[in-house]
Amino acid sequence: REPLRTIGSFLQVLERKYGDCLDDDARAYIGFAVDGAKRLDQLIQDLLQFSQVDVRPERLAPIDPAAVMAEVVEDFRPAIERMAAEVEVGPLPPVHADRSQVQILFQNLLSNALKYRADDRPPRVRVSAQRDGHLIAFTMTDNGIGIEPRYRERIFVIFQRLHPPEVYGGTGIGLAICKRIVERHEGRIWVEGTPGEGSAFRFTLPAADE
Ligand code: ADP
Repeated sequence: REPLRTIGSFLQVLERKYGDCLDDDARAYIGFAVDGAKRLDQLIQDLLQFSQVDVRPERLAPIDPAAVMAEVVEDFRPAIERMAAEVEVGPLPPVHADRSQVQILFQNLLSNALKYRADDRPPRVRVSAQRDGHLIAFTMTDNGIGIEPRYRERIFVIFQRLHPPEVYGGTGIGLAICKRIVERHEGRIWVEGTPGEGSAFRFTLPAADE
């Protein structure tokens, strides 16, 4: 990411030192270039996370998903307050998983649940889980914009996005990371819900005591 920081900082120097001699168009072009550098930086960070997940989960252990979720909610606290969002987490039975990967999974799903909110109501997110044989089946439900049934599989493919970046920013990598994490734990992830009403992301992880 260092070359990108060089681009970003020299663009800033250009603007600071020569901004006064430039016309509005030229200053706007610098703004687009700075914005592009920021998005490329995010893309690199997301791709790094995506490739890191590929390493076989080595630290499989019994973990408490409720504790992981509580940490993730804490990280999002400023956004939750700003949006007047409500996040309700029910009892989550223990799973046998890589804790840091489960954290990335919850982060990506909660981040989307808050990002793809409807503009006429504050986000309401509910997380629940129940035992299903040797699996724990999780559901994260939101009351956001929802997803057309025909896109339900496509959104898990890397770089697939349903909105132009001006409407909702993003790299299209988050759900591909989620799918990879769940599949590395021999689970499954899919989405349900109703367009205009909300989405329900469902996934399974192995139960801890199997
Ligand atoms: P990004 O958010 O960076 O675009 P993701 O891989 O996380 O990438 O999501 C892919 C696409 O799936 C998003 O662009 C969006 O269209 C859709 N999506 C993801 N989560 C939700 C959600 N909770 N509600 C509605 N649409 C969603």
